[in-house]
Amino acid sequence: MIRGDSELRYVKGVGPRRAVQLSEQGCDIAEDLLYHLPFRYEDRRAFARVADLFPGGKERTLEVRVVSSRLIRTRRRGFTIFEAVLADESGRIRSVWYNQPFLARLLQPDRRAFLFGRATQDRSGRAVLENPEYEFLEEDDAEGIHAGRIVPVYRKLADLGSRGVRRIVYGVLAEIDPRSLPELLSAEVRSENGLLDRLDALRAVHFPPDDTSLEALERRGTAAHLTLAFEEIFVLQLALALRRQGRQSEPRGISYLIPDALRTRLGTVLPFRLTRAQRRVIKEIGGDLRSPHPMHRLLQGEVGSGKTIVALLTLLVAVENGYQAALMAPTEILVEQHDRNIRRLLEQGGIECRTALLAGSLGAARRREVLAAIRRGETRLVLGTHALFEAGVEFQRLGLVVVDEQHRFGVMQRAALAGKGQRPDVLVMTATPIPRSLALTLYGDLDLSVIDELPPGRTPVRTVVRSERDRQRVYEGLRSEVAKGRQAYVVVPLVEETANSDLKNATAFAEDLQRRVLPDLTIGMVHGRLKGPAKEAVMQAFSRGELQVLVATTVIEVGVDVPNASVMIVEHAERFGLSQLHQLRGRVGRGTARSYCVLMAGDEPHGREARERLAIMERTSDGFLIAQKDLELRGPGAVFGTQQHGLSDLQFLAVILQGSELVEKARRQAQALVAGGEAGSARARAILGSLRPGWQKRLDLVRVG
Ligand code: ADP
Ligand code: MG
Repeated sequence: MIRGDSELRYVKGVGPRRAVQLSEQGCDIAEDLLYHLPFRYEDRRAFARVADLFPGGKERTLEVRVVSSRLIRTRRRGFTIFEAVLADESGRIRSVWYNQPFLARLLQPDRRAFLFGRATQDRSGRAVLENPEYEFLEEDDAEGIHAGRIVPVYRKLADLGSRGVRRIVYGVLAEIDPRSLPELLSAEVRSENGLLDRLDALRAVHFPPDDTSLEALERRGTAAHLTLAFEEIFVLQLALALRRQGRQSEPRGISYLIPDALRTRLGTVLPFRLTRAQRRVIKEIGGDLRSPHPMHRLLQGEVGSGKTIVALLTLLVAVENGYQAALMAPTEILVEQHDRNIRRLLEQGGIECRTALLAGSLGAARRREVLAAIRRGETRLVLGTHALFEAGVEFQRLGLVVVDEQHRFGVMQRAALAGKGQRPDVLVMTATPIPRSLALTLYGDLDLSVIDELPPGRTPVRTVVRSERDRQRVYEGLRSEVAKGRQAYVVVPLVEETANSDLKNATAFAEDLQRRVLPDLTIGMVHGRLKGPAKEAVMQAFSRGELQVLVATTVIEVGVDVPNASVMIVEHAERFGLSQLHQLRGRVGRGTARSYCVLMAGDEPHGREARERLAIMERTSDGFLIAQKDLELRGPGAVFGTQQHGLSDLQFLAVILQGSELVEKARRQAQALVAGGEAGSARARAILGSLRPGWQKRLDLVRVG
C-alpha cells in the first residue's frame, strides 16, 4: 500500500533517478503527485471514425495506425512540415504538423496512436488534420487508463509526458491507503455544500466517472473540483484566521508622522493633479502609516492608473521620518525608471536623501560600497531588483517596503525583504486584474486599496490584428506617427531570454528593420541579456526621444513609461498570452495622443484560431475580462504561470470559483472554527499540521503577507 507521504521513488513507475527530477519540480511524495491536476480532459469514451471526419467539424479523438509518413523541408529556412497518412478500419486521413520535425522519429509506420484534433480542408477539398495532439500506445497499455473513458491530460512533469503522468497517478490512486489522507472538512460542511470526501474528489478530478459533464469539467465546475477548491480556500483562511489571532499580541510597529508642511511641499512638486482614486488610496495608506500597526496593504490598479506616484509619496514619508525605505521592482529597466522619477521629486521637493540602486549588474566593488552605506544607514532610500533581498543586504533601520508589480515576485521573496526590518510597513502593488473578493482570498489579510480610475485625457489604445500581407501598410502607419514626432515600440518574442538562437533572430530582425525597412529612422534595441548600463543607456535614449523606434523583447512588459510612444507593433502576437499582451499594450496610450497597437499574427500554424483569440484584444481594454478570456482559452496554469506565483493550481481554481458563494462559505467556516475557543484553534492547528509539507510551506509564505 502507498501512503500519502510515501516517497515517490518507491512508487511504481518512478524510481530513484526520476524521483530526483520530480523533487526539483516540487513533487516529493505521493500526495504531491495527486495534486498535479489535469489541465484538460479528452473525451475518449467513444472514438470518432476516420471516415466520419469532415472539414470544420468538432474536435474528435481518433485511434489510428500510421500508414506512412515523411518530413518535408520547405524553402523557408527552418520551417518543416511533417506529414503522415493515418488509418483505422473506416478509412484514411492525412495529418500535418508544422515545425515538429522530431515526429519523424516518433510516428513511424505501424505505430499506434491517439490523436485529438479538428479536421480542416486541404487545397483539394479533402479533410486534413492540422497539428493534432498525439499520444502513443504501448503494447502494455491495455488497462483502460488511456482510452474508453474521459481521459485527463497533464502538463509535463520531469521527463514524463501526459501519458506517463496519467499512468503513475492511476497507480497511486489505486493503491493509496485512504487513512493516510485525512479529511480536512467536517462531514457536515461537506454535506451542506454538496462536496465529496477528499479521496473521492481526487479520484474524480483525475479520472472523471463516465457520466461527468464535459462542460463542467471544462470550467472546473464538477463537485470534485469544487471540493478541492473549497478545501484549499478553507485551509488558507484557517491559516489567516490563526495569524490574525496571533497578531493581536504582536509588538507594535512604527507610527509615522505626516506633518502638514511635508504635505504642502510634496503637493507643489507633483507634475500633475492626482485623480480622485489616487487621493483616496493615498489617504488609506496615510492611515496605515500613522497607526502603530504595521501596514500590510495591496494596491491594485489597472496598467497606467498611476500607482508609481503613490509608491513614491509613501517612500518619502518613511524617509522624512528618519527611516530607511526600499522599493523592489522586477526588472532593472523599471528600477532605473523609478530612480529617475524619485530623484526628480526629491530635488523639486527640496528633500535631502541619499538613494542607491541595487541591481544584479552592479560590479563587485561598487556593490560592496553600496551595501556598506545601506548597513550604516547613510543610504535612506534603496531601489532594486530581487538583488535586494539577497543575503548580505542589511539595513540599519528599514521602516518601509514597497514591492512593485508583485505578481512577478514569489511570496517568498517579498517575505525575505520584509524580514530585513523590524515589522516594517509593507505596500505591494499589482496590475493583475482580480476582483476584490478573490484578492481577499488569495492575499488574505492584506488590506486592499484599488485605483479604479485612469488619469484624465487618456484615449483608449486602438488595437488591430494584422497579418504578413499588411506588413508594408503597418510600417507606413509607424512612419506617419514618427513623422508627427512620436515614438514606437516593436516587440519581438523570445521563447527564452537566454536562448541564443532566439536572440540571434531578434537581433537579425532589428538589423533588417534598420537597414532595409526604416533606414532613415533611429532604431535601438533592448533585451534581457544586455548588461545593466547598456540597457539603461538605450532606455534613456528612448525616453529622451533620441531613438524613434525601440525594438524590444518582453523586458519592457512591466512598468516602462514613455508617454510619447504612441505605436506598438507586436511580432508573432499569437505566441503571447492575452494578459501578457494587455500588459505590453499598456506601454502605449500613456499620453493624450491617440495610440495604436498592431498585433502581427503569423499565418501558421493555427492561423485562424490565433486570430480569433487576438481579436479579443481589438474589442476590449478591460484587463479583467481579458484575463478571464485567457483563462477560458488557455487554462489557469498557462495564464498565471504558477511557478512565479508560488500559488497552486487549486488557487487558480479559486479564480474560476470567484463569484460563487463557496468562497465566502469557506471563509466563514474557517473563521467560525478558529473563533470557537481553544478546542477550535487546536483543531485548526491540527488540520494545518496534517497538510503535506509543500502545502504547509506555501501557507507559511502567504501568512507572511
Ligand atoms: P502604473 O499604475 O501602470 O504603474 P504609472 O504610475 O506608470 O502607471 O503611470 C502611468 C502614467 O500616467 C505615467 O506617465 C504617470 O506620470 C501618469 N500619471 C499618473 N498619475 C497621473 C495623474 N493623476 N494625472 C496625469 N498623469 C498621471
Ligand atoms: Mg507601474
